[in-house]
Amino acid sequence: MLRVDFRDTWARKSTAGLSEDGIRKRVQRGQFLRVLPASLTEPESRRGNVGAAPNINSMSEPKVKKSDQEWREELTPERYNVLREAGTEPPFSGEYTYSKDDGMFRCGACKVELFSSDSKFESGTGWPSFTEPAVADAVELRKDRSLLMVRTEVLCANCGSHLGHVFDDGPGPDGQRYCINSLSLDLEKSER
Ligand SMILES: [Zn+2]
Repeated sequence: MLRVDFRDTWARKSTAGLSEDGIRKRVQRGQFLRVLPASLTEPESRRGNVGAAPNINSMSEPKVKKSDQEWREELTPERYNVLREAGTEPPFSGEYTYSKDDGMFRCGACKVELFSSDSKFESGTGWPSFTEPAVADAVELRKDRSLLMVRTEVLCANCGSHLGHVFDDGPGPDGQRYCINSLSLDLEKSER
């Protein structure tokens, strides 16, 4: 089966109703879809780091709990869509995609520390990418079986908000690529 990586909402919308062949043609034309690396099309049991993550699928209760109404009042509509409805910002649109500033990226919803700029790298995907979270238990991972594929969703452990997805084609020793929406993050720049 053709496996494609639909990480942005508009791509999902524009492929709705397309045949596999139609999607394949668009992939070949380089239109908004990226064929998943071979490592991600292997059976889950053979996938390394992502499947082996200790906290996968065992979401603990978030410490910060707010009603839907409270989140709507606190967040901009764009941030609400990503953080609370697991939306995805369009690629290359986010304020931190190319950011090289030093500092700590905090959760856009509850402000807890999530990713250090030390682990940020240029992935070319159009989203801020990190090799690891600042603290291992700052994030929770959850299997996401939407859209014809298995992905691993990344959530803030403190408030349960959606951050992005993690893939196992990253450059670091653990091979992980945390693909995170800029809208899910607030950068606290460090003093130099
Ligand atoms: Zn949070």
